[in-house]
Amino acid sequence: MKTTNMKKLIVANWKMAPQSLDEAKKVFSVLKRAKFSTKSLRVVVCPPSVYFADIVKNYKGKTFLFGAQNVYVNNNEASTGEISTDMVSDLGASFVIVGHAERRMMGETNEIVANKLAHVIEAGLTPILCVGEKERDSQGLYLRFVEQQLIECLSVLDKNDVHKIVIAYEPLWAMGAGHTAVDNREIHQMSIFIKKILVSQFGRKIGMEIPIIYGGSVDADNCAGILKEGEVNGLLIGRASLNPYTFVDVLKKLS
Ligand code: PEP
Repeated sequence: MKTTNMKKLIVANWKMAPQSLDEAKKVFSVLKRAKFSTKSLRVVVCPPSVYFADIVKNYKGKTFLFGAQNVYVNNNEASTGEISTDMVSDLGASFVIVGHAERRMMGETNEIVANKLAHVIEAGLTPILCVGEKERDSQGLYLRFVEQQLIECLSVLDKNDVHKIVIAYEPLWAMGAGHTAVDNREIHQMSIFIKKILVSQFGRKIGMEIPIIYGGSVDADNCAGILKEGEVNGLLIGRASLNPYTFVDVLKKLS
């Protein structure tokens, strides 16, 4: 995916919600009826995998693309409880969120994330690699933390494959209930920092073309400012995407 003339990528991460297929269908039917333009937007919805088949079957069309929230690191059938890239790809996914902060909190290491990243690319899907610090400190150690995440997670990728990824900057301290989004200027600074690392690792041509999106307490009020002043290529939206009316507001404001 190239950033040049790229449509803004808006990714809805439904997380482990809603709690019934009926509810999930209701959320999606509101989205489906909404009027907004996709001229400048690519909208990706990532429902829980148990709803994936129903949602995609009922709502496939030109407006929405679909993504998985996670996949297993390989396609080995002896992996009880896991979901493979082949499965989600077969159902119509084109994106996979990899290394989400909530999964890292459950023990997903940079090494596991790196292997998933390579596996997702090999399957022909676009990985959205999440990076971000747990907290900020006044000495700037959080910058080293993000740098290390990037370097270690991208370490196993073939240089020719690096341009196939999307990077989501999602600091844990700005995500979820009770938190607020990162200041737009700081989002911009972080996106420059990430770009610098990518350029130093993979060269200017590749490094500058990798899309960087932001996630963490995005809502209908702050979405446009984050895109404009944060100068990012898109947004990863959790809670606000679960309320279809709020999510439609976001899409209307950006389209
Ligand atoms: C997320 O789950 O990726 C996320 C950004 O959550 P929220 O928008 O709820 O902070």
